Amino acid sequence: MEMEKLVSLCKRRGFMFQSSEIYGGINGFWDYGPLGVELKRNIKEAWWRDMVTAHDELSIADGAPGTYEMTGLDCTIIMHPQVWKVSGHFDLFCDKMVDCRETKGRYRFDQLRGRWVEAKGKRIFVTTLAETEDEAEDLQRRALKAFNLRGKDAEQLAWDGDTVSLDKIEDMTAVFAPEAKEIGTLTEPRDFNLMFPTTIGALAGEEGRAYLRPETAQGIFVNFKNVVDSTRVKIPFGIAQVGKSFRNEITPRNFTFRSREFEQMEIEFFCHPDTSRKWYEYWRDRRMKWYTDLGLSDERLQLRDHAEDELSHYSTGTADIEYAFPFLPEGEYGELEGIAHRGDFDLRSHMEGKLDPNTCPLEVEKGENGKPKYKGSGRDLTYRDDQTNERFTPHVIEPSAGADRAMLAFLCEAYTEDQQPDDKGNMKTRVVMKLHPRIAPIKAAIFPLVKKDGMPEVARDIYRAMKKRFPAFYDEKGAVGRRYRRQDEAGTPYCITVDGQTLDDQTVTVRDRDTLEQWRVKVDDVVEEIGGRVS
Ligand code: ATP
Repeated sequence: MEMEKLVSLCKRRGFMFQSSEIYGGINGFWDYGPLGVELKRNIKEAWWRDMVTAHDELSIADGAPGTYEMTGLDCTIIMHPQVWKVSGHFDLFCDKMVDCRETKGRYRFDQLRGRWVEAKGKRIFVTTLAETEDEAEDLQRRALKAFNLRGKDAEQLAWDGDTVSLDKIEDMTAVFAPEAKEIGTLTEPRDFNLMFPTTIGALAGEEGRAYLRPETAQGIFVNFKNVVDSTRVKIPFGIAQVGKSFRNEITPRNFTFRSREFEQMEIEFFCHPDTSRKWYEYWRDRRMKWYTDLGLSDERLQLRDHAEDELSHYSTGTADIEYAFPFLPEGEYGELEGIAHRGDFDLRSHMEGKLDPNTCPLEVEKGENGKPKYKGSGRDLTYRDDQTNERFTPHVIEPSAGADRAMLAFLCEAYTEDQQPDDKGNMKTRVVMKLHPRIAPIKAAIFPLVKKDGMPEVARDIYRAMKKRFPAFYDEKGAVGRRYRRQDEAGTPYCITVDGQTLDDQTVTVRDRDTLEQWRVKVDDVVEEIGGRVS
């Protein structure tokens, strides 16, 4: 599937729009349109239901090491600034970036791609901002420009090695930056903190400084004690949260994949250190299954364990659930969700504080040595098992997913084209969004075949009855084939048609979006029939 087709469908049918589009848009921000908002809500609701409300804490879930409880939270976006100092985000939540002295462009060091090329006795690293499929062409165009050559001189360009990211390059003086005229205009890479600062109240300067949260997780850690004290949850248990997060990404790109404002669906699962490894494995597999159950194909999905050198210093295991997005080069995957074994790092930091990460070796970060640079809360965030009387700092397993990335993956997976006869019997390309019925924005569309003979009345009654149960759509305009096509593009799994026969035998036609199978159902049963299939 070509990405442009999906992007144009999303705009045309109202799944997604660029934010502030009438003013030229704002990079890294997206709005969800009438269909998109329903799809995204359904994804978040499916997640909440499957992870929290429908979880049965009396039985052992498939593959789980034991029974466990699940509960939820909804925390603020702006939190006490100390949270981000203690969590490490204030000092460490950075990406390396380079600036172009000539064009003032700013690029992420690990994302700007380019290739070595030699001509006229000079070797340079040419970079490109083009999407994957246009990369080679753009590199050639830029290389010709760098050496002042014409298109017909392309054979003078001696390319060396594959296209790689800029962070593989040591010599910035040899880099030809995007849109620059000179070679060697990029600065050395520098740290760039991704948190959005803001100001609280009328306090100027540092005193009023706060941050928009870059993840929802910290709200859960700082409320750990509140949840334990206000409910009767016993370890092991999980706390879930869905909400907006903000990251000042240097190069937002690939549609909503990397945005500056996005939504996360996160769980912090608290357990005893002795069983944490088993819980980590359980959540890794459980979360992978969630995506396949909702329709992502095994072939495009992978569970990738981080290599030892990729792990955060506190983590004893992290795995990413990744999807082969069509905008990525062949064989490359993009992260949908990370599942991390975080040990007792977070609760301990919020208790004891955090040493200066620049001056202290990480092994002593637990506070055995010297005073913390950032003070913790001083609160006791340990847990006492009332059966065994053991007191311990729980270990945490964190499945952290992005709602927008999940939605993008479901949209990519759903986009399908096939050949079907139109109303006149001519074969036409049909675009159909094969979204899982649980997440489809509209569950059923109801059409009277024609606008007369009492058909609209029957159709409207069915529509009203359906609307009480699930999102439905009524359409009486134009040829019925065209009405079907519009619903196929919106991902509506079932279309119901009231026709001549309905008036004789009180049955309607139900049409399945994917198989195109049609069958008749009694008018009185149709709401129940569709309700059963879409829940
Ligand atoms: P990446 O390496 O792609 O920047 P990350 O490893 O920093 O992602 P986490 O901090 O683990 O991401 O965040 C958890 C989840 O939040 C990600 O798996 C992703 O689904 C989502 N997410 C993170 N950053 C963004 C973003 N800029 N836009 C959309 N979703 C995001």
